[in-house]
Amino acid sequence: MAKKYNIKEIYYTLQGEGHHTGKPAVFCRFAGCNLWNGLEEDRHKAICQFCDTDFWGTDGVNGGKYIAKDLAEMIASLWPDANKSDCYVVFTGGEPLLQLDEDLTASVHKVGFEIAIETNGTIELPIGVDWVCVSPKANTDILLKNGNELKLVYPQLGMDPADFVDWDFDYHYLQPMDNAYLSKNTEACVGYCKDNPKWNLSIQTHKLINIP
Ligand code: SF4
Repeated sequence: MAKKYNIKEIYYTLQGEGHHTGKPAVFCRFAGCNLWNGLEEDRHKAICQFCDTDFWGTDGVNGGKYIAKDLAEMIASLWPDANKSDCYVVFTGGEPLLQLDEDLTASVHKVGFEIAIETNGTIELPIGVDWVCVSPKANTDILLKNGNELKLVYPQLGMDPADFVDWDFDYHYLQPMDNAYLSKNTEACVGYCKDNPKWNLSIQTHKLINIP
């Protein structure tokens, strides 16, 4: 029987953060993560405790269990341009690499999409991902030490940006942790980037303009 992918939601929007901020993209959110089970009552036990995303279950917009071909077709159906130009999908989660595999990247390429991924970097990549954004979390073993974009949520206890500066990424971003201290965290990121120009600031613009 063909593999089914558990998908929380799929929607068309603009990328809100990081290098491709403002770029139109289909977001495909996989259900599940290896650093938290997604249940509020278990957050205190999670390896990653500051998550701001609901990735539990398959009950979101266009969520469900899909085989590769059907998932690729669903993604393609959300693209507005009949000529299918500049098609771009961001696989996110949860942790997309728990499920993303070569069958799915091939199916999505077949419908003409470039594939980006946002991952915590603890699981190996399949073939066929075109843009790799790694967002490392404290107290994890990070396997993906190269890619296009390293996006570090800052500050994180036990994570010093200096430890990542030599990792082989095209871009290094610091993104303020979105908690009760957001403005202090933003100030800290601005200060760090100014003192260490290898790092650029990433702001979660989708939250500022209230889009998903
Ligand atoms: S790794 Fe990402 S998806 Fe998983 S709990 Fe942390 S922030 Fe959430």
